[in-house]
Amino acid sequence: MADQYEIADNTELFYKCSKCGRMFEPEDNGNSTCPVCGNSCNTDSCKLVDGSNEDY
Ligand SMILES: [Zn+2]
Repeated sequence: MADQYEIADNTELFYKCSKCGRMFEPEDNGNSTCPVCGNSCNTDSCKLVDGSNEDY
C-alpha cells in the first residue's frame, strides 16, 4: 500500500550556482559544493530553485 499524499509535498530543490549558473542537488540541508566550479553554495550565496520549474 502506498500513501499517495506524501507525494504532494515532494518538491525537489536545486542550488543554482552564483558563479557558473549550474544547477545541482544539495548534498545536505546546508552547504554544498558546485560540481563544476567548486563554488561553495548555501542558502545565502546561491539561489534555491524548484527543479521542476526553471525560472529565468
Ligand atoms: Zn559553479
